[in-house]
Amino acid sequence: MILPIYTLGQPVLRKVAENITPEYPNLKELVENMYETMSKADGVGLAAPQVGLPIRLFVIDLDCLSDELPEYKDFRKTFINPEIIEFGGEEESDEEGCLSLPGIHESVKRMNKVHMKYMDENFTEHDEWIGGYEARVVQHEYDHLDGKVFIDRISTLRRQLIKGKINALLKGKAHCNYKVKTPR
Ligand SMILES: [Zn+2]
Repeated sequence: MILPIYTLGQPVLRKVAENITPEYPNLKELVENMYETMSKADGVGLAAPQVGLPIRLFVIDLDCLSDELPEYKDFRKTFINPEIIEFGGEEESDEEGCLSLPGIHESVKRMNKVHMKYMDENFTEHDEWIGGYEARVVQHEYDHLDGKVFIDRISTLRRQLIKGKINALLKGKAHCNYKVKTPR
């Protein structure tokens, strides 16, 4: 089932999300719906707050990058109750967008390695260093669980320059070809 994606201005996107247990109601179905919703919207990542749920869960799907990066063929991962242990590598800038901020794309600096502990959809624990493009995506999604969005990480000047777009989103004007739940 395709879920509506909550856009900037929806309070859930600014909440610090809570950990969940394996008993979380209909978890399997929720994860499936999140993959379906993300794929339909051509996203590479989707966090539960973006579908209105303040819980620490996100999914990623990097298969669309596999033409250039074959290691991402069928690359899908579920992250439950993730924790960032430490950052590594070096800082890199790359353009990001977000399904909750349609029409906005900005360059964001992030570390290119991250050591993360998380549970998958079967509540199997993982502890790994994540690098490459995946490191950027998981950091972007992890931010959503802490009530942050990527434009919080751009310069004041850049934010000033895209103020019109931000205000339009806050007023409920979202132009995209997927189902959204706008703040107004
Ligand atoms: Zn996002």
